[in-house]
Order: sequence, then C-alpha cells, then structure tokens
Amino acid sequence: MNRRRASPRAHKVAKDILEDLQIRDASELNVELIAAHYGAITRYRPLQHEQGHIVRRGSNAVIVVDARLEGQPRARWVVAHELGHFRLHAGADQYEACTTADLSDYHSSGREPEANHFAAELLMPSQFFKPDCDRNRPDLNDVRELAAKYGTSLIATAIRLARFSPEPCAAVVSRNAKVMYSSRSETWRYYLPNGHNLSGSSYAGDIFSGKDPQEHALNVEASAWTTNDWASEHDLREHSMPLGMTGLVLTMLWAPEL
Ligand SMILES: [Zn+2]
Repeated sequence: MNRRRASPRAHKVAKDILEDLQIRDASELNVELIAAHYGAITRYRPLQHEQGHIVRRGSNAVIVVDARLEGQPRARWVVAHELGHFRLHAGADQYEACTTADLSDYHSSGREPEANHFAAELLMPSQFFKPDCDRNRPDLNDVRELAAKYGTSLIATAIRLARFSPEPCAAVVSRNAKVMYSSRSETWRYYLPNGHNLSGSSYAGDIFSGKDPQEHALNVEASAWTTNDWASEHDLREHSMPLGMTGLVLTMLWAPEL
C-alpha cells in the first residue's frame, strides 16, 4: 500500500483560497462560487470520455463538467479538481481533460494527484475536517455523516477520514473482489496490499458474491484483509458497502490495540 503523501503546494494554494475568502464552516464551501471568484465559471454538458475539463482563456477559464454528475457530490469534486489545475498549473496546456482514473489518482507523480490533493483540501479543509475525524471506532456511518456535512463522495470522505483519524483505521476501495487502493491512519499497523484477494471470510468478499451488506461494523479475522503472518491471531472490525452501480465496494476497517 502506498502511503498517501499530500502535495505541500496544493495544500497551501487551497488553504490560501479558504483564508482569502474567510471560509470558516463546511456550509460556506460552495465550490462553483469559489471557482467563479477566481475567474473560472462552471458549465454542465454531456461528456463522453471524461468527467470534466478546463478550457483557459487568459486569466479566465471555463470548467466543463459531465451533465450526468450535476447535483451530485462528484460534480463538486470535479469542479474543485479542475480549479486545482487552474490555480496550480498555469501556463500548461490550454485544455485539460480529466478521466475517472485521473480524478481518483493520489499516487503517481504529476498534475493529477496534485489536483486531487487540492480538491481534498478545498472541500474538506484540514482545519475543520480534522477535528471532525476525532471519533471512536470510525465506520461507514461516520463516513456517511461527514460526506453529508461536506457534500463529498463516500470514497473521498473515507480516504480523508482514515488519513486524519487518531484511531487505528483504514479505508479500502475494492473491485472484482480485489483491493484497488487504501488509505490508513498513522496508528494503523497492518499491511493492506493492493490486489489482495477478498475471500468469503470478509464482508466485502460476501458482497462480491451477492450477499446483502452488513448494517454495522462486525468482527472479521485480520487475515481476510492482510498478508501479515501474525494476523490470524487478531480480529478487525469491518464495515463494507457496495457503491451503487459502480461495481466498487467501500470498507472501513478498525483495529483494536495490538
Ligand atoms: Zn485532472
């Protein structure tokens, strides 16, 4: 698993915007108004190959978002991501198209992860999101609550909750019964390899074999999630859910003290 490294520059540029506009509360995070303030207006149009793009015209820009996303948390993320390109990558291409993969890439080097780190800091500012992450045994109910408060997607919220939580926890996104990527807190001790096969011994594995998701977190053998050979002696708390029609399963894991 890659450790998620925030881009200091993206973080600073987002923080400066929040400071500049004196945003003090999640309810003030109207991302289209923020983008407009800096000269980037948002338009919704049907797009085929990407979720959004930005067209620059000198110091102004048009952010185009796929019309199917309008009104969804994903649209806010796309606008914030494109605003990130606009504020961070000036002088680069005049036309930047961003695919689904770009919009969830935090790991590779370059512009896409930087725009995502910017979007995360703009929509879930550490100064007030971090204190919101201080909760016992975080599970998907916490993710839902924070996602509703910040108007962000469940995945983006879970990734950031796991990053900031003082508890030993991790957020995992999986597809086709395999771990795609994960985010973990500083106190998390297990290795969660990408590509790990999720068997029927995990609740996420059950979802991939067509069973109903759990309503709350339940105990699971740690070996269902990790290749650490000492894991079979330990249990984790797992809370997994399918994400609509995406074919993805989102999981929050919490580990008791080792
Ligand atoms: Zn992009």
